[in-house]
Amino acid sequence: MRFEVISIFPEYLAPLELSLVGKARARGALDVRVHDLRQWTHDRHHTVDDTPYGGGPGMVMKPGPWGEALDAVLAEGAAAGAGEPVLVVPTPSGRPFTQRLAGELAARSWLIFTPARYEGIDRRVIEEYRHRLELHEVSIGDYVLAGGEAAVLVMTEAIARLLPGVLGNAESHRDDSFAPGAMAGLLEGPVYTKPPVWRGREVPEVLVSGHHGRIARWRRDEALRRTAAHRPDLIAGCDPAALDKHDLAT
Ligand code: SAM
Repeated sequence: MRFEVISIFPEYLAPLELSLVGKARARGALDVRVHDLRQWTHDRHHTVDDTPYGGGPGMVMKPGPWGEALDAVLAEGAAAGAGEPVLVVPTPSGRPFTQRLAGELAARSWLIFTPARYEGIDRRVIEEYRHRLELHEVSIGDYVLAGGEAAVLVMTEAIARLLPGVLGNAESHRDDSFAPGAMAGLLEGPVYTKPPVWRGREVPEVLVSGHHGRIARWRRDEALRRTAAHRPDLIAGCDPAALDKHDLAT
């Protein structure tokens, strides 16, 4: 899979060389390319922003450099046979980034991210490329960051860990919070490791019982309790057919 990022702060994307994404790159499972938007400017100061039409505070990113950057990145990827491009535009006014969307994007072969700064990108850039390729405006939460680079780090990590061969144990995202698997959209319950007693606190007895049926039941009950306490909206969205009698009692 190919991830491309166009940013005025390419150094901000340095964590893409670390940990899970970095290892996937090193193994060749991921091809990550970070581009400096300013290389597509033509003035002495490498200007990427200007004052907003209609007045108001803040600056807006100029369409010229973005258009040139996207055309160049798209042409290079097409020549390299990268597949169908998907443009991911981080913005607080986008659709929410969810585990489901991460899964959909993980199935694609080529993602291009356009993290902005200031008040965002001149709208005509979005209109131009929306008609030429698949484009998603995506928000990582109901708050406003100073720039989209941190949002790109969040999204690329969530997507990369779903790619085949990226996690050491392919099963490990099956029971994650929000995963579509056995826990069907619930939050994951608490987890424990050795020692069996820490500062007088014992690991729940059922987890050391060796009884797989009881352990599975306990995990599901804990997931239901935690979801009801922290995210009652998720419980309300559960398919009633996916709940058993014991779930309803929990
Ligand atoms: N004035 C804009 C608004 O209220 O929608 C916010 C602009 S923000 C200061 C600059 C950039 O940071 C955005 O264009 C976007 O790329 C990124 N950004 C900020 N918050 C974000 C969020 N919650 N999700 C995704 N990207 C975000």
